[in-house]
Amino acid sequence: MKIASIDTYPIAVPLHKPFKTALRTVTVAQSIYVKVTCDNGITGWGEAPPTHVITGESLVSIEHTIRTILAPVLLGESVLNRDTLFGALHASCVGNTSAKAAVDIAIHDCLARFCRLPLYQFLGGAKRMLETDYTVSVNEPEEMADDAERYIKDGFRTLKVKVGKDSIDKDIERIRAIRSRIGDDAAIRLDANQGWSAKDAIRAIRRMEELKLPIELVEQPVKAGDIEGLKQVTDATHTIVMADESVFSPADAKRVLETRSADMINIKLMKSGGIHQACKINALAESCGIPCMVGSMIETKLGITAAAHFAAGLNNVTKVDFDAPLMLTGDPIVGGVVYNRAVMTMPDEPGLGIDEVQFQEHVLS
Ligand code: MG
Repeated sequence: MKIASIDTYPIAVPLHKPFKTALRTVTVAQSIYVKVTCDNGITGWGEAPPTHVITGESLVSIEHTIRTILAPVLLGESVLNRDTLFGALHASCVGNTSAKAAVDIAIHDCLARFCRLPLYQFLGGAKRMLETDYTVSVNEPEEMADDAERYIKDGFRTLKVKVGKDSIDKDIERIRAIRSRIGDDAAIRLDANQGWSAKDAIRAIRRMEELKLPIELVEQPVKAGDIEGLKQVTDATHTIVMADESVFSPADAKRVLETRSADMINIKLMKSGGIHQACKINALAESCGIPCMVGSMIETKLGITAAAHFAAGLNNVTKVDFDAPLMLTGDPIVGGVVYNRAVMTMPDEPGLGIDEVQFQEHVLS
């Protein structure tokens, strides 16, 4: 079962409403789709969106890396020797984690199709249903309260609120506005996307604890490289602190786990370079008693379906953040994970469970 061809396709889908974090604003979801074809006719699909401010990759760099660096290493190799294959994939270049992830996902799709298993069962089969949060973009407090109210009415029980764009006083005002609008039933998790200093984060989180504004967890309060600052925040507050941009690789995870710098890790396939490396991060975390969340970039249902299979496959993944496809005005994918408001059900078909990819309306010109 050797890899016969690797093809790439740029796609674009507009968002309903701009997605705004402390790092960036996105109005159109762009991605490179990857199709891996094996010599026995089995095909698999993968996806990589460009997230310059997090992985350093662009649409052009992703496609170029796949075509000129990754494909030459993989063509003609058997997907059944996957540990060797993924070793070669990751040794072929440093970084470029989203490009690697797209190819890793497509190969996993092929492998699980060959085994006639849905990918989540191929990976461990821990659960078949997931419940996602919905993201409230960082805006003025009243606009954020309006958005939060709408998402709760739409059936979401957990909101992920983006903060860290300006002052912490404004962030506290944002959380107060949202809480007073939606009441205490829904869970609120915060994501500062590296926007606070350690001192700011400690002050903001303690203030919210004093004000009895319940916060489920705080994601990546400080800069990605500031592991000491991350640990200071974790040690100085009662609220759960989660590492996101600080952890790309298993080596990054090891450093955070050894120093107990966070209470949870947010794994994203686009940071780890795909499912093979993500499994290693999850295993390291589980061995230290640290649960994981699985999140995504602004991806279509193809990338999210892959991340959902990974999350559903493993017991140590206890939370997910998979709202990205719900923000899109369309989707090139037929099949994949099925949404019923916040609840996601894994497909029973082999592999990712993607039935068809419809390019006509979504190809970049
Ligand atoms: Mg995050």
